[in-house]
Amino acid sequence: MTSTAASTQLHQDFPFGTVEPEYVLSEALDPDPASVFTNVSDADRAYWDRARAFVQDEVLPVIAGYWERAEYPLHLLKRLGELDLLRDGIDVDGFPAMSKMAAGLVNMEISRGDGSVGTIIAVQGGLALRSVAECGSDEQRARWLGPLSRGEDYGAFALTEPTHGSDSVALETTATAVEGGFLLNGEKKWIGNGSIGGVTVVWARGEGGAVHGYLVPQDSPGYVATTIEGKASLRAIWQAHIRLENVFVPAANVLPGARTFKDAGRVLLATRLGVAWSAVGHATACYETAVQYAAQRQQFGRPLAASQIIQERLARMHSELATMQLMVAQMTRLDEEGVLTPVQASLAKYTCTRTARGIASNARDLLGGNGILLQNRIARHLADIEAIHTYEGTETVQALIIGRSITGISAFA
Ligand SMILES: Cc1cc2nc3c(=O)[nH]c(=O)nc-3n(C[C@H](O)[C@H](O)[C@H](O)COP(=O)(O)OP(=O)(O)OC[C@H]3O[C@@H](n4cnc5c(N)ncnc54)[C@H](O)[C@@H]3O)c2cc1C
Repeated sequence: MTSTAASTQLHQDFPFGTVEPEYVLSEALDPDPASVFTNVSDADRAYWDRARAFVQDEVLPVIAGYWERAEYPLHLLKRLGELDLLRDGIDVDGFPAMSKMAAGLVNMEISRGDGSVGTIIAVQGGLALRSVAECGSDEQRARWLGPLSRGEDYGAFALTEPTHGSDSVALETTATAVEGGFLLNGEKKWIGNGSIGGVTVVWARGEGGAVHGYLVPQDSPGYVATTIEGKASLRAIWQAHIRLENVFVPAANVLPGARTFKDAGRVLLATRLGVAWSAVGHATACYETAVQYAAQRQQFGRPLAASQIIQERLARMHSELATMQLMVAQMTRLDEEGVLTPVQASLAKYTCTRTARGIASNARDLLGGNGILLQNRIARHLADIEAIHTYEGTETVQALIIGRSITGISAFA
């Protein structure tokens, strides 16, 4: 029996009002308890509005299916490029100015729709494009920045290794000098966009042990990428496990501005705040869904929303959301003034991913059993937050960075 036939059967069998109503949970409530977004400039709002229209018209109608099937909707990557939503605030010749606030709002809005699509921006714009923009030669920038920004080429950033995640500073991939270039050998894990036929920025140890960045086309001989399967999070974007076996990289593909591990760290630092904005987007979606469900779901003869405990829970989410919004907006203002410190970026990521996780869990529970159904939005966000809680420095790693600044003592090792 098809599902349509099954639901018709259900209605015929139970005609006396015992059929569960269809809940409408997708309205945009735009919670802004502290009026954080009241003064967003027209130029920033134009980016935000474009991101919202893209999510409403092109992401939400299809994404649940891609997520369930663990398929990568590459056409959405291309559309992000066509709509100029991929750049993460990076200046690229021929493109209009995109402020850091606009980049944050785009990250938030896209993740409010879906975390996998939000992660496309983090990987392609935040990490790959930024590596070339900040560390590339004029020729490399001329070759790659436009196509990556437009979504015509795909970009990946390969730092993490199977045996070096939080301690990626200990990476073991090597680059050995040979005539005309270098041979790369090693393994990389969790590399977003690493198996879709684009270019990967590979971080490897060269002569004397210093870490450099290398632009490696994914069709290079010896570049063997396997898409990681069985993920319970971000199922609509692919990460790869990559083996590099004597991959030849011409000297022209070495990023001249990437000479130490600190250069990789600089790129990661710039994207940390973007992840915090994404967390706000996830939390907003969960909060919006919970408020709408509480108003529509009847138990004990009244809406859930009429219960004091439910109101307290909604108030808590509301308050937590305001905290997150204030934090990302203030940190972005500091970033725009050029004074954001690494510890402040860590504080934003720590606070927002941690708080979003709490809001998603609270909202999931508020929907009862319906909270675990993918169709009701929250379960996908709840699962996706697990990845942003971990990538770009885990919650614990951010806490250790903050703790070191408080105490003056490094507790990493
Ligand atoms: C979906 C996804 C996408 C990703 N995309 C990319 C990508 O595109 N490119 C890329 O290079 N990497 C990527 N990563 C890798 C990501 O950055 C790492 O997963 C992350 O840095 C954590 O490393 P790990 O998973 O090896 O965990 P581990 O480092 O093994 O950590 C395991 C646990 O130990 C804790 N821990 C670690 N060190 C300490 C310590 N000193 N003290 C106390 N606790 C500690 C951690 O907080 C964590 O809870 C991605 C990961 C995921 C899950």
